[in-house]
Amino acid sequence: MSREYLENADRGDYNSSNMAELLGIRKYLHQHPELAFKEYDTSAYLRQQLDDHGIELRRVNLDTGVFARITGRRPGPHIALRADIDGLPVVEESSYPDHSLNIGYMHACGHDLHMTALLGAAFDLYSRRESLQGTIDLIFQPAEEIGKGAQAVMRAGALEGVQAIAGIHNNPDYLPGQIAIGTEPMMAGCARFAVKLHAEGTHAGYPHKGTGPMEAMATMMLSTQTIVSRNASPFHSAVLSITEVHGGSVWNVVPAEAGFMGTARFFTEGDKVLLRDRLRAQIAGISEGYGISAEVDWEDISNPLVGDPQLSTLVASHVGEYASLQKIQPSMAGEDFSDYAHQIPAVFAFVGSNGRPGHHNLHSPKFLGLDDCLPTAVGFYTSTAEILLQYLS
Ligand SMILES: [Zn+2]
Ligand SMILES: [Zn+2]
Repeated sequence: MSREYLENADRGDYNSSNMAELLGIRKYLHQHPELAFKEYDTSAYLRQQLDDHGIELRRVNLDTGVFARITGRRPGPHIALRADIDGLPVVEESSYPDHSLNIGYMHACGHDLHMTALLGAAFDLYSRRESLQGTIDLIFQPAEEIGKGAQAVMRAGALEGVQAIAGIHNNPDYLPGQIAIGTEPMMAGCARFAVKLHAEGTHAGYPHKGTGPMEAMATMMLSTQTIVSRNASPFHSAVLSITEVHGGSVWNVVPAEAGFMGTARFFTEGDKVLLRDRLRAQIAGISEGYGISAEVDWEDISNPLVGDPQLSTLVASHVGEYASLQKIQPSMAGEDFSDYAHQIPAVFAFVGSNGRPGHHNLHSPKFLGLDDCLPTAVGFYTSTAEILLQYLS
């Protein structure tokens, strides 16, 4: 067990027997990460936990993900709490003492913490169901990492009748016990692009007998980096990153095909359109200049995440009861919770999960989300559920 981990033995004032149960759940989930839409064991485990506590499971036509419901004593508004459940194809190198047993996969985004916290809140809210007015749906959503889970949940009709929804993401830039609730854009919109170049391959010693994609591709990769610095407003945050390059298979042949992929991040629809259109224009111009052809495949993955200002302000005003409210530091990561927020009033929170100097970011093999964030995460879910039920009734 690492020193960093042991030093974080303070679990806040959360009921210690509840916390012990949650630590066991977190350990199991952390050790058994599964990829998007393949969360079969994770779903079975979550169903078992909910069932063991007497919480009603709902049938939704999806292979993975778990859906449950807590019905208050009196009828009232209908809200949902959401946690995401998938892991990543990352080989774990963190200092968490109980590493992933599914070698090559890791909860490197801390979704194990989100599931654990939502279970903790579910147990808590269920035990107080006699005092609740309304219905709370629990959504353990699959496939957040590929940006397709929220859409699948909505297509399956799992959100029908839901008047407001709340969710979290752990954030290692904040300390455990800290929380930030977004009344302005919190997480960037995300798109994926793929550029394919088609040339006339040739002998490497006879470049003049063909065209070849390599020099055009190098020019494109550098040139597109001017879109954010020269075309986007310096007052807006935006990113255009190239992340994958393909081309060639042997040293003495100029290939006919090559390509690269990447992602764009933005906080407004206007910036998305600007990044997309400038990318297309540059690729078209450069490929024409080099005498080859190119195509750009652009896929919108998620919208920028913006919480409902009124509900978010209301929820934020109660944070003092369980955590320390911080200013939002917007994230350039995407989050498919934005798909819900696009449709229904939503509240989203960053829950501090590390905050130490030199900590590792989400998706790093060394990412460490500290258990100490759980009381705050549970507090957000339970408090927000109660606030929303009261506000909407
Ligand atoms: Zn992630
Ligand atoms: Zn995540």
